[in-house]
This record gives sequence, C-alpha cells and structure tokens, in this order.
Amino acid sequence: GIYLDYQASTPVDPRVKAIMFEVMDRDFANPSSESHSAGWQAGKRVEDARATIAEAIKCDPDEIIFTSGATEANNIGVLGAALGAPEGRRRILIGATEHKAVLEAALAAERFGYTVELLPVEGSGVIDPAELKNRLDESVAVVSVMLVNNEIGTIQPLEELVELSAAAGAFVHTDATQAPTAIDVDVRELGVDAASFSSHKIYGPKGVGALYLSATSPWRPRPLMFGGGQEQGLRPGTLPTHLCAGFAEAFRLIAEEGSGERERVEHLRNSFVRCLEENVPIFKLTGTCSHRHPGNLHARFIGIVGDDLLLRLQPHIFASTGSACTSGHLSVSHVLKAIGLSDVEAGECIRFSIGRQTTESDLARASDIIAGAIDSLGDQVRQSGR
Ligand code: PLP
Repeated sequence: GIYLDYQASTPVDPRVKAIMFEVMDRDFANPSSESHSAGWQAGKRVEDARATIAEAIKCDPDEIIFTSGATEANNIGVLGAALGAPEGRRRILIGATEHKAVLEAALAAERFGYTVELLPVEGSGVIDPAELKNRLDESVAVVSVMLVNNEIGTIQPLEELVELSAAAGAFVHTDATQAPTAIDVDVRELGVDAASFSSHKIYGPKGVGALYLSATSPWRPRPLMFGGGQEQGLRPGTLPTHLCAGFAEAFRLIAEEGSGERERVEHLRNSFVRCLEENVPIFKLTGTCSHRHPGNLHARFIGIVGDDLLLRLQPHIFASTGSACTSGHLSVSHVLKAIGLSDVEAGECIRFSIGRQTTESDLARASDIIAGAIDSLGDQVRQSGR
C-alpha cells in the first residue's frame, strides 16, 4: 500500500531506531539512579537528548519537560497552566480548530470553575487578531492557538496573537505538534510561554513528547500527576531513556535535513494536486496551497462520502479524514465546521499527507487508483438509484 497518512504518524527513521536499540542494550539503568555509574550514564543520555531538542527549537535544556506525547504536553500547557493562574484569571481562549487534546483539556478546566471560549477562524483556518483582541483582558488565564493544523494544514501566523495575549498578562501556549515537519521552529522567536511537541510526528518513536516551558512564563503550570518529582515535578515517573534518545535524534535530523525535505515534499504535494485536478473532476482542494503544511493535501470529493472512498482505496492507499476524533466514530469534524463547511461537505473530505518516504511514482499511482475508485463508487451510486 501507499502510505499517505504522515500527519497521523510517521515511520521511525532507521537512524533513530539504531540509537534506540543501542540505548536499550547499554543504558537500561534508571536514569534517575544516582548511586552508580550505570545510572549516571543513563541519566547523561536523557540530558544529552534534552540538550539536542533544546538546540533544535532554540531554548535552554531546562525549559524542556519530557512527556508521553503531545496529548500530555497539551494537558499540562492548557489545563495545568489554567490551574496555576492567579485568582481572577478564569477564562481560557483557544482556537476553534484546535486538536481534541487542547479542546478537551480546556473543557476539563470547566469543572474547576473556568470558562472556555473558541476563537473563530476564517475559511483558511487563520484567526483574525481582532477576534482575540476583543476578548482579552485581565480575566484571561490561558490563550492556546495551534501553530500548524493537523487536519487542513493551516500555518497560523502567531506573532500578533502572542503579542496581544502576553500584553494582557495571559499564559500563552501553542500546540506545535505538526510544526517541525512544516517550518523552522524557534520558540523564543514565537514568544510563547509553552509549546507542545510529539516524537511520532517527526519520524521518532511513539510514547514520548515534550512541553517547552519558558523560564520567563508568567506562572508555572500546576502538575496533573504526582510522584517521584522528575521533570521539575511537572511530569513525574521514570524517564524512558531510549524514547528520549530516539526523539532527540529525530529532532536533530529535522534540524539538519528539514528544509530540503520540506521543499521536496511541497513539490510532490503540488504536483499531486495538479494531477488530481486533471484526473478527478469532482476533486476540490480545501483552501489553497499557501500558508499550509507542505505535506498536507486536504480535499473534497464532491458527491462522494469520504469514508466510503477511504474504504474503497483499501489495501492500496492509506489516508484518513484527519480529524482527531477516535477512529470508527462517525462525527462531523469541528475543524471543517469552523472553516465554514456544511455537514455534507465535511463528510466528503479526505486528508492525504505526504512525507519522507513518499516518491513521485507513489503519487502518480495513487492518483490513478483514486480516479478508478471514484469511477466505481459513481457506478455504485448510479445503480442504487441514489
Ligand atoms: N496535537 C496535534 C496537532 C496532533 O496532530 C496530535 C496527533 O494526533 C496531537 C496533538 C496528539 O499527539 P500525541 O499522539 O503525541 O498524543
């Protein structure tokens, strides 16, 4: 099959795998063990990994908190940050197209007396800073707006949003999970207080991620878990040394090779769009190719149910609708509704995402297979008289 679901997860790069195996073989001691040199060595592996990630996103190593993934990082960066806010700050503002891991973490704060407001987006997925400005005052605890959208690929211009939020004294978080494969990420330049990352979206292993937490944030998030005090007490539990090392190597590779890779992927994506436009009359790209993740292709197939098409593409093409709800759950994407699609239109959508191992011939074949599947679905629709 042709894998076109890189925004859902990426294959582990062989160079990452090699380092993980080495660490699992040699550095299995508890990285927090201070009584012997095996522990010191494992601990050094974790600290080296932390330093590598800090270098990749341009911060200090002690501003990196290892987590189990971006879901956990988002929970600390949104819910934890809200719970740590001074009295009087009880409002949370988030983008309308946030991943469920931000949306649900914010909604969980409602149980503690907070309120959540969604910032509307334009058809492109971009937030008009005026929409934020109108809502900002000293009662806002947290503002969270994602840097790159997982579904429609929008790259959000954060600068003005961050400036306005910081001026109002809010804690500013961004879900940057999809960003490293799309743009150079410099957290200092972004000016946010916290940013979430995930290893399995950048050719690293699953089960590890990070929260960047600025040393100059207006306050510290409250921990959501309690235990041995690791990760500055914000994420206690024994660190998975091999996952941290693999995650760091994945980040190092992106820092080194990312810009060339993004150019290649963008070129492939754009020619795939042209190819589908020529071969599939009912194909309609969602939005435009500018300000968009280079590997993201989100489109409607007018008159066809996206899930039917995905099924028809088995076992030849692996893609998805890209919405963050649990798979198998048929519900309309809140992201597509937020950009103004009707329920029917949203149901016609599919996300293809292109990455490191995708080739030109993969996409030429994929385009033929999609055209064929749509023809056969069309026949089926005609025969059933629908
Ligand atoms: N945020 C975004 C934008 C994502 O795309 C994902 C991935 O599904 C997540 C958060 C959750 O990440 P993880 O799988 O590391 O928990």
